[in-house]
Amino acid sequence: MGQSKPAYGLLGYPLGHTMSPPIHERLFELSGKSGEYDYRIFELPAKVLSACAKDLFTCEGFNITIPHKLNIIPYLDRLDESARRYGAVNTVLCRDRDRKSVGYNTDVDGFLRSVESLDCDLSRPVLIAGGGGAARMFAIECALHGAPVTIAVRRIKPETEALQRDILSLAPKAEVSLTTLDQLPDREFELLINATPVGMYPHPGETPIPAGYLRGVRAVFDAIYNPASTQLLLDARKMGCRALGGMAMLVWQAAAAHTIWDGSVYTQQQIERIVVEMSSLMENRFQQSAEGKVAN
Ligand code: NAP
Repeated sequence: MGQSKPAYGLLGYPLGHTMSPPIHERLFELSGKSGEYDYRIFELPAKVLSACAKDLFTCEGFNITIPHKLNIIPYLDRLDESARRYGAVNTVLCRDRDRKSVGYNTDVDGFLRSVESLDCDLSRPVLIAGGGGAARMFAIECALHGAPVTIAVRRIKPETEALQRDILSLAPKAEVSLTTLDQLPDREFELLINATPVGMYPHPGETPIPAGYLRGVRAVFDAIYNPASTQLLLDARKMGCRALGGMAMLVWQAAAAHTIWDGSVYTQQQIERIVVEMSSLMENRFQQSAEGKVAN
């Protein structure tokens, strides 16, 4: 690979719109390490991972996004408890003290920081739209905090039922219900989480939950970070709910990766500033791309 500086990076596919390089650059800057490291992009489809895995592990550490959060596991020496709990890895430390590679899940740090800023009580009912990888982590975490959890999907599949069983095996006393998005229950929720891509660029006008349903919801967290204000968030704010988009989760999970890699820690204020900067950078990029000025 012939690298001049120690490197970190991002593994995923496709990565055309990734915000990770500017986020990590800002985090390195804040920890006084600007220019000391490269942050590389490993845009690799699942089928070529085995051929390229050796290159990845020449880095100090790397982040992982779709479709590799599970695929990477066989290449690791060890999983941290965070990754074992959700069965997914989004951060790798390539060499720990014993020179072993370790997989972590820092998405959960990003999620919990987001919920904290929404001032939610996670022992109260939570509704999660979606039943994929992110929903799994949200549901497990909410159930472990004592929340009765309702998972709403477009169609209940064997995987949705398996998710319900997995949550119950981790939190045996949890109340976990499954429903469909067109049959939402008539009850109040402390928190609604969107863990579907509905409302994401290039379909920003769409929402997984009708605006009227938000009357019974106290706070909304939309994991989507592009656009910064999804239709769901706009509806939620109009209904008087507290509402937060996914950029905060994205930045906090990246900050937690730096803590694992080199012990750097960041203040709430520093992270909030990066969230604002990245939201505006992203909106500019997408505006330009919509106007045909950027080749993605
Ligand atoms: P995933 O594993 O692909 O799961 C997506 C889920 O959304 C599935 O349950 C899928 O249902 C459902 N879905 C897809 N299209 C739908 C539609 N048109 N109507 C209703 N449901 C639909 O993806 P993921 O990794 O969980 O990610 C989910 C969302 O979270 C994405 O928007 C992603 O960008 C966001 N996310 C954000 C962060 C962050 O840091 N902010 C981190 C992770 C993920 P089917 O099974 O029926 O297709």
